[in-house]
Amino acid sequence: MSIAIVWFRRDLRLHDNPALTHAVQAGHHILPLYIHAPHEEGEWTLGAASRWWLHHSLAAFKQQLQQQLVPFAILTSHDSLSTLQNVIQQTGAVAVYWNRCYEPLLRQRDQQIKTHLRSQGIQVYSTNGFLLNEPWEVETQQHTPFKVFTPYWRACQNRPPAEPLPIPSPLLAAPITELAQAVNLEQLELPPRIPWAGGLTQTWTVGETGAWALLDQLCGDKLHDYHERRDFPSSDGISRLSPYLRFGEVSPRQLYHAVQQCMAHNPECRKGGESFLRQLYWREFAWHLLYHFPHTTNQPLNAKYQAYPWATDYDAVLSAWQQGQTGYPIVDAGMRELWHTGWMHNRVRMIVASLLTKNAQIPWQLGAQWFWDTLVDADLANNSLGWQWVAGCGADAAPYYRIFNPYTQSEKFDPQGQYLRRWLPELATLDNRSIHNPSAAQLADLDYPAPMIDYKSSREAALMGYEQIKGKA
Ligand SMILES: Cc1cc2nc3c(=O)[nH]c(=O)nc-3n(C[C@H](O)[C@H](O)[C@H](O)COP(=O)(O)OP(=O)(O)OC[C@H]3O[C@@H](n4cnc5c(N)ncnc54)[C@H](O)[C@@H]3O)c2cc1C
Repeated sequence: MSIAIVWFRRDLRLHDNPALTHAVQAGHHILPLYIHAPHEEGEWTLGAASRWWLHHSLAAFKQQLQQQLVPFAILTSHDSLSTLQNVIQQTGAVAVYWNRCYEPLLRQRDQQIKTHLRSQGIQVYSTNGFLLNEPWEVETQQHTPFKVFTPYWRACQNRPPAEPLPIPSPLLAAPITELAQAVNLEQLELPPRIPWAGGLTQTWTVGETGAWALLDQLCGDKLHDYHERRDFPSSDGISRLSPYLRFGEVSPRQLYHAVQQCMAHNPECRKGGESFLRQLYWREFAWHLLYHFPHTTNQPLNAKYQAYPWATDYDAVLSAWQQGQTGYPIVDAGMRELWHTGWMHNRVRMIVASLLTKNAQIPWQLGAQWFWDTLVDADLANNSLGWQWVAGCGADAAPYYRIFNPYTQSEKFDPQGQYLRRWLPELATLDNRSIHNPSAAQLADLDYPAPMIDYKSSREAALMGYEQIKGKA
């Protein structure tokens, strides 16, 4: 009998898990591990909302494995390599399997671990369980990385992903009862100490089964008009699958093929399905960019934006933005949704990010940090791409400087004010017209602030800032 460690990271699922499948197919008895080594992620160690998610995700996965009679060991570590070496020594494991991570620091770490273990005669097998394409597989005709989405997406059309894998069978557990560094999940102290996560608990069913339920809903009654409803934050027309993808409770391949199947059986789902798959490829594009331009977590892809004249005295505005107290209803609704649920609708993410970076001229990195801490789907590639796209300094084909008008966006995408009323109860009595931009007379009777920033003059200031750097190389 040979034992193989299956090292779980961003892939807390049994279905379509290539590392797990390969270990089983090679005939090994498996030893599934999770190693908690947060400092190895550098400044991008998990934020508070993601820690909450991870706690529940590990609990759900442990239970799933238990149902298969396979124990799941959780270990804490200062150094994943020595922890793996230690486990190998204790158990006599001959191989280690994992699905790749693509964060710059984790890639380096994994490479070092692979080299060390192989030099000690241990088989190491790493594969892709997180993306539809490896970031290096898609390239321009000049063999360079893409920097604009649409040509990237077109290039991906010729590369349909393989079918997802079933749960491998038989799943035979290595006969190991206890590992020296194993801990209880509680000992990781992942959930917040202050009682802040009530809204997260109400909102989410974490784990693979939660992901399948949302996927069923998507293919059941959302896909046929996804393209029409996806921009309206009160309509629930989107999948809400982003945190499940982030933690690997569902794979993009599973989504891709479920949607393709739905389109094949229901022609009325074609437009919605294509629109959904396009969004899924934005995620792919984000990881393609981060792989090729690892500095873009902190620095603009478009280097001339290094010289942008950002505001320096912004503490009060930043804090009001974080707390949903800017006086712009659509922005405050979004920021409160984020605080309460750990998630925000994509349209509203763009509006709140535009107000912060364009009107308040606060560096996009500060917005990205707040999202990193408060989003349950905080994803290094998607978050960096999203913030840079809105700030105008990232991958964007638009030849103009886009500034979202929070009033007209609100009127267009929440015409009945349902989303605003849900998150801003203090404005609930206002009519559908004035709720987007209450007058001074209306505000006098309401416990809601006047806008902190004047929209018109701040827009002009942002355009002037842009003029200063426009001609720069
Ligand atoms: C400023 C800003 C920050 C963002 N930060 C994150 C983040 O940290 N994590 C994250 O997952 N997404 C982020 N996004 C992208 C997007 O807002 C979310 O992926 C989306 O809202 C998730 O909801 P959903 O699963 O219902 O999406 P759906 O509309 O159902 O789309 C399905 C999947 O496609 C992918 N996707 C959809 N839209 C985008 C997009 N614009 N960019 C990249 N991938 C996309 C996601 O994986 C999503 O789960 C950010 C966007 C902006 C503007």
